[in-house]
This record gives sequence, structure tokens and C-alpha cells, in this order.
Amino acid sequence: MPDTKEKCYRKEFITVFGSPVDENPTVVIMDAAFKALGLDWIYNAFEVYPQDLETAVQSIKALHMKGANCTIPHKVAVMKYLDHISDAASIIGAVNTVYLKDGETYGENSDGKGFTKALEEDQIPITGKNYVLLGAGGAAKAIAVELALAGAGRITVVNRSRGRGEELVELLLSKTPVKADFVLWDHSYELPADTDVLINSTSIGLYPDTSSPDLVYDSLRPQMVVCDVIPNPPQTPFLTEAQNRGCHTLNGCAMLVNQGAINIKLWTGLDAPRDIMKAALLKEFQ
Ligand code: NDP
Repeated sequence: MPDTKEKCYRKEFITVFGSPVDENPTVVIMDAAFKALGLDWIYNAFEVYPQDLETAVQSIKALHMKGANCTIPHKVAVMKYLDHISDAASIIGAVNTVYLKDGETYGENSDGKGFTKALEEDQIPITGKNYVLLGAGGAAKAIAVELALAGAGRITVVNRSRGRGEELVELLLSKTPVKADFVLWDHSYELPADTDVLINSTSIGLYPDTSSPDLVYDSLRPQMVVCDVIPNPPQTPFLTEAQNRGCHTLNGCAMLVNQGAINIKLWTGLDAPRDIMKAALLKEFQ
């Protein structure tokens, strides 16, 4: 019998728009995931300059792509070119994932959701817990908003520059039910004894930087959970300090893989092979 099934040589395509984007490791995670899912899909990074962002976003519709990621410097600017934006992404004020549904573009922010999912994976409860968040940039904002929406008790934002730190606290207090306060980070910060989770959401420790956040490390207690957003290297000196004091730790790869898994669900409708994605990423950063 001849094969009557119609052949399709067109491959589904997803991209990340950024500048610079050559060193973005998402391609590795997505390639591993698509292969494991048996999807002959392509994920590639595109260097997109700010003046070309609108055209790039229009290309998602014009080329019938499944969607795109947005990274530095496009996470905020992309919002004005999208048809719909999720509630959380609106509060955060940034979009890192776009998907196409019924011909319209939807913006989501999976950075913070990837972080809360990583906590969930390690059975670390969020509701009512006290967080200390180092940093007040894009990653910190996404994490803080998702923690707040998930029922966190208190978030203390510790940041080097007052303006960004106070702005984030104001956002949390005005748009979410969480209690929040700001500490200016102009000294070695000593953790309050009732801290449940400490998160480094600064860029301190990102390869090739080997420094650690300025803390009184003896204020870390074994019952505290300590997290780092830095995916490369997966084991930062900051996490090693915490482990030496008996703390449970969570590295930046867990957040990165989980945000990728959330995106895969949005683009394909399938559950992502998170273990395979994590292994691919760790191999890349060896
Ligand atoms: P931003 O530039 O928006 O924010 C950087 C933050 O780090 C600011 O709060 C800044 O303070 C603080 N900071 C930087 N250097 C220092 C320093 N030497 N001392 C004290 N504070 C410092 O960056 P993002 O929030 O977008 O990214 C932060 C990190 O998160 C990056 O390393 C990125 O790789 C990582 N990331 C990881 C993800 C994951 O999935 N694992 C996802 C997204 C990001 P100030 O306001 O004073 O300048």
C-alpha cells in the first residue's frame, strides 16, 4: 500500500530575541527537550537590535512561529508590540516569553514562575514564609512578584541602589498582598533570624565573576533555604558558603530549566522532560 499520509517538510520554529544573544544557553535546553519529546522543532537565537524589535515581533505572526523568548534588552520594550499580556507579567512589567494563539501574540513572564516551580520541586513551601531577596533588578522583580502572588509572608528587598529597591517594595505593597520592606545594602548584611529563604538575585557570581554577596555569613542558619539565580557556574561560592553552614540550597539551573519547561508547555502543550533539560544544561556548564 502506498503511504497516503501527506508529508510536511516545514519545521516548527521558535526563537530568542536578544542583544547580545550568542552566549544564551537556552538553545541547549530546548534542543534536548524537543529531541526527548520526539519533536522535529527548531529553536535558535536571533541577534535583534532595539530598533528592529517591532519587526522581529511582527515576524512571529507573519512566519506563523510558535513563539519566542525575549532577553536583554527587550523584556520591557516587547510589551508594547503584543496583543495580550498575562496579569503577572503586567505587574512585573516585563515579558520573557511570547506564544501565538489563534493568530494573536500573548506575553508571559516565566522567570519568577520558574523559580517558584523550583521551590515546589524541592518541596519548599511558600505560603507565609519570610524571604530575603538580594537585588532589585529584572530577575528579582519577577521572583518577588510570583512569591507574593503565591502567598509569601514577607519579602525584604536588600539592594545596593535605593531607587530600584524602594520601587520594587512599592510595587509589591501596591499590587500584591505581601508585606515588604527595603534595606539599603551599604554594609555586610546580617540576616534576620526569622528568615526562611535567602535568594541571591543579583548578577554577583556570574561567570567569570567569583565573588559572593556581602553578607554576615555566620547569620545563616541550617534551617534556612538558600537560592541563587546564577546558572553559570551552577555551584557558586555563595551556595558553597550556605552548604557549609548546613543550609538546603537551590541553584540557578533549577530556575532556568523550570522556566524553559513552562515555556514548552505554552508552545507545545506537552510536559517538558525537565531532568533531560537539566542534564543538558549542566553538561554545557561543566
Ligand atoms: P539587572 O541588571 O536587572 O539587575 C542586577 C541586580 O544586581 C541589581 O539589583 C543590581 O543592583 C545588583 N548588583 C549587580 N552587581 C552588584 C554588586 N556588585 N553589588 C551589589 N549588587 C549588585 O539583572 P537581572 O535581574 O536581569 O539579572 C540578574 C542575574 O540573574 C543575572 O546574572 C542573570 O544571569 C540571572 N538570571 C537568571 C535566570 C535563571 O533562570 N536562572 C533568569 C534571569 C536572570 P543595583 O540596582 O544597585 O544596580
